[in-house]
Amino acid sequence: MDLLLSTPRICWWRVLFLLSIFQDYLSSMLDCPPTCSCTPTEIYCNKSDNGKFFPLLALQDTGSNGNNSNNIQDLFKNITSIHIENWTGLQTLRDVDMELYTGLQNLTIMNCNLRQIHARAFAQNPHLRYINLSKNPLTLLSWQLFQNLQLSELRLDGVEFTCGCDVRWVQLWQQRAQAGLHTQQLYCHTGTSRIPLQAMDISHCDLPDISVSHKNLTLIEGANVVVTCNGSGAPLPEVDWTVSGLHSINTHQSSVRPNVHSIKLTLVNVSREDNGFILTCIAENVVGMTNASIHLTIHYPPAILHLAEPERQHDTCIQFTVRGSPQPSLRWLFNGKELRQSQFVRTEVDDYQDYLEGCLVFRNPTHQNNGNYTLVATNFLGTTTKMVYGHFLSAPFFYEDYEYGTPTPPLSGTHQSDEDTFGVSIAVGLAGFACVLLIVLFVLINKYGRRSKFGMKGPVAVISGEEDSASPLHHVNHGILTPCGLDAGPDAVVIGMTRIPVIENPQYFRHGHNCNKPTTYVQHVKRRDIVLKRELGEGAFGKVFLAECYNLSPTKDKTLVAVKTLKDPTLAARKDFQREAELLTNLQHEHIVRFYGVCVDGDPLIMVFEYMKHGDLNKFLRAHGPDAMVLVDGQPLQSSGELGLSQMLHIATQIASGMVYLASQHFVHRDLATRNCLVGNGLLVKIGDFGMSRDIYSADYYRVGGQTMLPIRWMTPESIMYRKFSTESDVWSFGVILWEIFTYGKQPWHQLSNTEVIECTMQGQVLDRPRICPKEVYDIMLGCWQREPQQRLNIKDIQKILYAMGKATPAYLDILG
Ligand code: AMP
Repeated sequence: MDLLLSTPRICWWRVLFLLSIFQDYLSSMLDCPPTCSCTPTEIYCNKSDNGKFFPLLALQDTGSNGNNSNNIQDLFKNITSIHIENWTGLQTLRDVDMELYTGLQNLTIMNCNLRQIHARAFAQNPHLRYINLSKNPLTLLSWQLFQNLQLSELRLDGVEFTCGCDVRWVQLWQQRAQAGLHTQQLYCHTGTSRIPLQAMDISHCDLPDISVSHKNLTLIEGANVVVTCNGSGAPLPEVDWTVSGLHSINTHQSSVRPNVHSIKLTLVNVSREDNGFILTCIAENVVGMTNASIHLTIHYPPAILHLAEPERQHDTCIQFTVRGSPQPSLRWLFNGKELRQSQFVRTEVDDYQDYLEGCLVFRNPTHQNNGNYTLVATNFLGTTTKMVYGHFLSAPFFYEDYEYGTPTPPLSGTHQSDEDTFGVSIAVGLAGFACVLLIVLFVLINKYGRRSKFGMKGPVAVISGEEDSASPLHHVNHGILTPCGLDAGPDAVVIGMTRIPVIENPQYFRHGHNCNKPTTYVQHVKRRDIVLKRELGEGAFGKVFLAECYNLSPTKDKTLVAVKTLKDPTLAARKDFQREAELLTNLQHEHIVRFYGVCVDGDPLIMVFEYMKHGDLNKFLRAHGPDAMVLVDGQPLQSSGELGLSQMLHIATQIASGMVYLASQHFVHRDLATRNCLVGNGLLVKIGDFGMSRDIYSADYYRVGGQTMLPIRWMTPESIMYRKFSTESDVWSFGVILWEIFTYGKQPWHQLSNTEVIECTMQGQVLDRPRICPKEVYDIMLGCWQREPQQRLNIKDIQKILYAMGKATPAYLDILG
């Protein structure tokens, strides 16, 4: 039996093994430049070199054909950091030098002989966050080079500019504390002397002024309109409308008067697709760019895009999608007569821009609800209707009239008489009993009768269909294929035999398809109460900012918070956002980052969290490790002291404590790693991310097919093979977190490629004991990395052991103020 079970694993193995050989073959086709050292993610060149060209991973001549070009591109894309120092021959940075490194985040070209950077040099490097061009004889540097980047730091120390309008933008960025320039002492020379850039006084050199003819513009579909934009100032700016994404036909006409550059935009036959479009006009000169916008509202009559026959989804509903602007009002006719809404039949609607998506929801419908349902949608431009036949139940056999085809119409909307309910109740009761029996059977089989290849028992999340979801936080799903419509679906948790719905808030994105749900009241924060201060980072959802939030606490006027933004969300992203907000609202623990609420009045959507001063734990560990003096994020950092054993244990204990809570809530996180924990004052650590950090730490994830990013270095064999996630697989990840802590934030298996990691994990190899890790702690790691899930240590026990060890260990250093 065992042999039988393991056969498919061997086949899989072959595939994985071949894959890894292929990957090796590819990596061997790329050579590190001679005077540099390279890892899969970094190129580091600090030896002097008079090489003229930017270091490029060289392609070996293997006689390979173009089929591998995609994989080669991927290898370049994996490079996130390039550091070049003392390359005296390097004079020009060209776009061809940079274009392959599309995943680059940190670039240092320091103390070289760089004089010129081509205008589009960074056009293919949208992830660049840190650029260091210190100590180069740069004569020209335009702000436009950086305009599409979200730079957290631009270092220009030791670059001596020529004073003049060309460098006014650097002065302005310093004044605005942009990209960290305010922390640098920069100079320019006037020909005779060298002065601090801040002291440069220059006239006729400022940002352009801009004005547009309208702020908001409301039109009826098909109309024509002309809008104007004027840019003025010295130097006289170039002005243009950005119309990409605009559907309506448009033409531009530009004219220049003294001191004003004007541009007219004519829209012809405006289209409904442009409802909500923001027309932006941009004025640019050598100092920078300003913009102004017009918000378009296009009105058009309603249309019913979708009206489906009733379907059973927890309860029963007739789904619809209606579009119209202004938003149409909706009503229903039942067999031609107005349908009165009641607790038994009601409309639930989600609105998203000019779409209304929803359901006519029936509670316990009977044959009396069978009939024609007509949806009527109206706005000031017209009315539209569509009909669907709804069949719910056939009449019970004892219902005499039915035989003659004259069912009694529903009473007051759809409320049933007692007799009817009784008849239906018997049928439903019998069916229900059968369902319960089936479920019990399923549970028993699942619990005692079925062992996975890894001997897995108990709560196991079998993620199907959802496994590519952006959010790795998932409820424990016991893998029950629930009969009788009890299938948990993405909106529900199945714990034992109970289906606990994930609750939706009627105030917030009312969701038409789920009925009878208790409500999670996600708290709302007003946009005007949030004042952004600076960017903290970026996750897969969008940017994260430090902000001040007013009226959050009854005792404080304002509170520092971290806000996560979701820009231009698709409907699916909105739903993920909503689900995430509801989950977070329900998770409250001292070691889970505190969630204050959402702000959904306008764009971007915002989630408000408590601010954790020291950011993510991975960065924190690196900044408090032995390498901190050398590089963190490509920049030299003053180390604030290495973490001691007691502090490491304290960090680990707190994460374990958060996990004990998650396990008690039957939540499986699926992506526990130090990058997803946050550090606050006094070494307070919390689990702080539920699926939003894949962009910055993309090297920690393995992309399989399309979009799926798997954190394979933190994953169990059963998760890699079968995507099975459970509280026990979270324990495995905790073992890896311990390893990260004791290596000051190293990437697990950093010396191996992703396919090699898969191979090692499947072969049963585990990470080595970190140099400074006591044997007792490594034993915990080994206890987390047991192949059989049920043999792994229990998170409660781990927490207790770590706590006890921490108490017995004297504190070495108090590194935090
Ligand atoms: P995330 O989208 O959660 O991956 O966040 C991206 C980055 O923003 C993290 O790596 C942190 O450095 C920072 N960040 C996120 N949440 C917070 C918070 N609550 N307090 C402080 N920094 C945060």
